[in-house]
Amino acid sequence: MNVTRTKAELRAALAAPRRDGRLIGLVPTMGALHGGHLSLLRAARERCDVVVMSLFVNPSQFGPHEDLASYPRDEARDLAVAEAEGVDLVYAPAVEEVYPEGFATSVEVGGELASVLDGDRARRGPEHFRGVATVVAKLFNSVGPDAAFFGQKDAQQALVIHRMVRDLDFPVEVVVVPTVREQDGLAMSSRNAYLDADERQRAAALPRALRAAESAARPSGPTAPALAAARAELERAGIEPEYLEARDAETLAPAESFNGRPVLVAVAARVGRARLIDNAVIGG
Ligand code: AMP
Repeated sequence: MNVTRTKAELRAALAAPRRDGRLIGLVPTMGALHGGHLSLLRAARERCDVVVMSLFVNPSQFGPHEDLASYPRDEARDLAVAEAEGVDLVYAPAVEEVYPEGFATSVEVGGELASVLDGDRARRGPEHFRGVATVVAKLFNSVGPDAAFFGQKDAQQALVIHRMVRDLDFPVEVVVVPTVREQDGLAMSSRNAYLDADERQRAAALPRALRAAESAARPSGPTAPALAAARAELERAGIEPEYLEARDAETLAPAESFNGRPVLVAVAARVGRARLIDNAVIGG
């Protein structure tokens, strides 16, 4: 497995496979690899000839009160895991390689997609997705992938990337991979490492809440009872969500009813030090 630190090294390493017409797949990650990342890597391995994994904790997508400094980092372990998964090339740049002195350009997906489901705006506002879109656009330009793989756990992120690719004509196929969960349903996340034993148990209320919403959902019925069922499940675990909302799964417009289109029920909640998110797509 080849580990590159600069755009120049990365381009040089990909020149021959690109010339030979081999399909290049990109899996962007912030490291602290878990089963969710592995699922993306396997999907890329299945569809592509060359699997590139980026490993970069992107400062511009963290709010001023978020966990940039304490975000789990263990590059040696991540490289070993990536190698065992058959990754061909890792791109692990330093912050200055991605954001050199004087960096002043960003990509912003406008409209509702990036400005809803914010929760506490003091903690994380729409600038989060500006950071995500900007770094992913840069990765697309640096790697030049044929396909890029993202997780459904970050449903809004996947929609924002889809829209950016469409609007800016990136010649990249965006593949969204289902959420990988622990045995009790908790969505795998690098931030689960922040949970102590008690918090870890309470966190399982998030997927339970989404299942409760699914059970309470009725075709053509309103979304409110489904949200109420989910909220009750969270309350039982002493969790006050940052947001718990039903939205059109493609446009993120508010969804008042299950009207035949897929509805995204999305939740974000702070459990201890961890901000956790999860979602379920119901109906459609
Ligand atoms: P991150 O390293 O947290 O930025 O995540 C990198 C990629 O992995 C993103 O596309 C995430 O949506 C995806 N991902 C994270 N957790 C999961 C999960 N539990 N299941 C599937 N994909 C995931």
